[in-house]
Amino acid sequence: MTDVSTSTQSAATLGQQAGLATRPAAGRPTVVIVGAGFGGLRAARALRKAPVDVILLDRHNYHLFQPLLYQVATAGLEPEQIAKPVRSILRRQRNLEFRMVEVTGLDAEARRIITAEGPVPYDHLILAVGGETNYFALESIPRHGFGLKDVPDAIRIRNHVLRQFEHAMLEANAERRRALLTFVVVGGGPTGVEMAGALSELIRLVLVKDYPRLNIKDVRVLLLEATDRLLASMPARLREAAAETLWRKHVEVRFGAAVSDYDGDRVLLKGGEVIPARSLIWAAGAKAVALTARLGLPTSRQGRVPVGPTLQVPGHPEISVIGDAAYLEAAGEPLPMMAPVAIQILRALRAEPPVAFRYRDPGSLATIGRNAAVAYIRGIGFTGFPAWVVWLVVHIIQLIGFRNKLFVLLNWAWDYFFFERAARLITTMD
Ligand SMILES: Cc1cc2nc3c(=O)[nH]c(=O)nc-3n(C[C@H](O)[C@H](O)[C@H](O)COP(=O)(O)OP(=O)(O)OC[C@H]3O[C@@H](n4cnc5c(N)ncnc54)[C@H](O)[C@@H]3O)c2cc1C
Repeated sequence: MTDVSTSTQSAATLGQQAGLATRPAAGRPTVVIVGAGFGGLRAARALRKAPVDVILLDRHNYHLFQPLLYQVATAGLEPEQIAKPVRSILRRQRNLEFRMVEVTGLDAEARRIITAEGPVPYDHLILAVGGETNYFALESIPRHGFGLKDVPDAIRIRNHVLRQFEHAMLEANAERRRALLTFVVVGGGPTGVEMAGALSELIRLVLVKDYPRLNIKDVRVLLLEATDRLLASMPARLREAAAETLWRKHVEVRFGAAVSDYDGDRVLLKGGEVIPARSLIWAAGAKAVALTARLGLPTSRQGRVPVGPTLQVPGHPEISVIGDAAYLEAAGEPLPMMAPVAIQILRALRAEPPVAFRYRDPGSLATIGRNAAVAYIRGIGFTGFPAWVVWLVVHIIQLIGFRNKLFVLLNWAWDYFFFERAARLITTMD
C-alpha cells in the first residue's frame, strides 16, 4: 500500500472529470464524499486545491487503520494509536467541511444523499463506504461470537479474552475451565492468521505470567479454515510456512473445518464435530456495508456496487464508488477488498482523459507474531525475520499521524524486549 501524494493538477483533474470545472465559478460545485476510510480520505485530500466545496460524511469522527485492529483485540495497542480524528487530519483543508452523520439512503434523481440528520445535496458524489463482516447468513455467529471490523469490536474481543482468564481462575470444573480457555479463530486469510498468532503469543508470552496458577496445557487456540489452505493468494511454499509457524506458536490449524453453528459454548462443524469453546472470533469473510443495498443502485457480488472502468456508476456519471464498496473486475477476477484498491483507484479518478483502472498488486504480507511473517512482493516470496521487518516498516509508514507512528513504534519495541502487552485492561462489566 502506498500513499497517494496530491498535486494541484491532479486535484483539478478530478474536479473536471466529475463535470465540476464546467460550472460557473460563482456557485462552486459541491462534492460529497461518504466515508473517511482509506478511499474517502484520499479523495478528500486530492480535492484540497480544486475549485469545489467538499463535504465529507462519516458515522465516526475518526479514520481507522483497520490492518492493526487485531493488535487492539490482543491488548498490544490502544485504539487511539491506530485511529485519528478526521477533523484533526483535515483541519487545514479550507474547502472541506466534515460532518459526523449516519448515511441512510440516496435520492439519485434529486442528487441528494440522505442522512439521519437530513438530506445533503451534491453535484458529484463519491461513495467510499467500505465493507463489513460477512457471516454468510450464519445468524448465531454474530449473536454469540465476535467480528473484527471496528474499534468497539476489537475492545469487546480484548475484554472477553481477558475475562475468560479471570473466570478460569475461579472455575473448579476442569472441563468448563478448558472451554473457557479455548479460543477459536475462524478464517485462514490474513486477518485470521494474524489474529490467531497474536492471541497465542498474548497467552503464551504474557498472560502465562499473570496467571501462574493456570495450567497452560488447558489453553487452546484453534484456527479453523474451511478450505485446504491458509492465505489463499500466496504461493504454496509461503502458505505452508505460515501454517508451520502457527503450529510452532501453539496454534492448532485445522483445514476442511467449516463452522455451521455456535451457541456461545460449543462450535459445531459441518462434519458434526463439536468443539467446546467460550470464544469464537470470525475472520472468514467481508462484504460491502449493508447501506449499498439501500441506495437504489444495482449491487453485485458481496453487495458491492458495479462501476465502469472509470469508477462511475453506469447511468450516473456524477456518482463514483471507490474501495471495498465498488465492484470492478481485473483479469476476470473481482478486485480484492484491500486497502491498496481503495488507494490506487483514486489514480484512475484523477486521470485525464479518464482511463480504465488497472490494479497493480503491491504484494501481500501477513505477520504471525514475534519475528515471523510471510511476504510475497513482486513475485518474490520470503519468510521469517526479514518478512517480519518488512511488515513492521510498511505498517509504521502507513499509519496516519506522526504521534501514532511514534507511539506504535515505542509500544512494539517495549513489547518486543520485555514480552509485554500494556493494554490488558478489562474495561466493561460482564
Ligand atoms: C481486521 C481487518 C484487517 C485488514 N487488514 C488489511 C491488510 O492487512 N491489508 C489491506 O490491504 N487491507 C486490509 N483490510 C482491508 C482494508 O481495511 C479495506 O480494504 C479498506 O479499509 C477499504 O477502504 P474503504 O475506503 O473502501 O473503506 P473503509 O476504510 O472501511 O472506510 C469506510 C468508511 O465509511 C464509513 N461508513 C460506512 N457506512 C457509513 C454510513 N452508513 N454512514 C456514514 N459513514 C459510513 C465508515 O465509518 C468508514 O470510516 C483489513 C480489514 C479489516 C476489517
